[in-house]
Amino acid sequence: MAGLIRADLHVHSSFSFDGQGTVQEYCEKAVSRGLQEICFLEHLDLYPQDPYCRYLDAAAYAAAIAEARAKFQDRLLIRMGVEVTYLPSLEKEIAEYIEGKGYDCVAGGVHLIFGGEGGISEEMEALETFARHEAEEVYADYFEHVAAAVRSGLFDVICHLDLVQRYGIHHLAQFEYGRFYGTLRLILEGMVKREIALEINSSGLRQTPQAPYPSAPILQLYYELGGQLITLGSDAHQPGHLAEGLAESWEVAEKAGRFRPVSFQARTPVPLES
Ligand SMILES: [Zn+2]
Ligand SMILES: [Zn+2]
Repeated sequence: MAGLIRADLHVHSSFSFDGQGTVQEYCEKAVSRGLQEICFLEHLDLYPQDPYCRYLDAAAYAAAIAEARAKFQDRLLIRMGVEVTYLPSLEKEIAEYIEGKGYDCVAGGVHLIFGGEGGISEEMEALETFARHEAEEVYADYFEHVAAAVRSGLFDVICHLDLVQRYGIHHLAQFEYGRFYGTLRLILEGMVKREIALEINSSGLRQTPQAPYPSAPILQLYYELGGQLITLGSDAHQPGHLAEGLAESWEVAEKAGRFRPVSFQARTPVPLES
């Protein structure tokens, strides 16, 4: 376990619209916390109605990563990735955007549903979405978006697979895992078939679910279906949250199955020592 918690594979610097702290500040914090590896997954938002559409400055981001790699050399492995807000209507734009950017990891996350008009990851937006739709509809549409993200073949990792629970857990009818078993199974089977890693995201421990994303039954089902590849990330949006909750998240994962933790280099999984 010691090796695993020396890598945080999901952090946001100020290249993300909601991130604080520079790439360099994160790297310094990583070294001071004894990490060997960090992966930046800056938000990539391409939905035209999103106020932060195309906020990421890809050239400046690549330059900051190059500078940090030169500075930290053999003290820290620094990976450059993006967390793409997936929408089925954006597949072409996403593919074009990531082409030739040299990203180590392209992660997919669902933050918007109902074709883009329903936010689920920010509280005000989520409450508006929940006010306009029945709980059943919200969960069904959310997981259909995740299934489409898997089918798209665009992603190396699926982030926080049940993020809808962040606000759903208190504001929607109780989530019934069994009602969505069919869709979840389809999602996880697709990930196993395409060798897409499942992210264990410790931010859920800091948020309302008070458990990592995804929840334990989803981790167990992934394992039962032959899923092995996982990544571990804090989803820190400030250096102070770097690596928070990773050890606890790994303990949860270990109870669900014998997984193979990986990081990504040039979009290829690399084993992490455990
Ligand atoms: Zn996210
Ligand atoms: Zn994130």
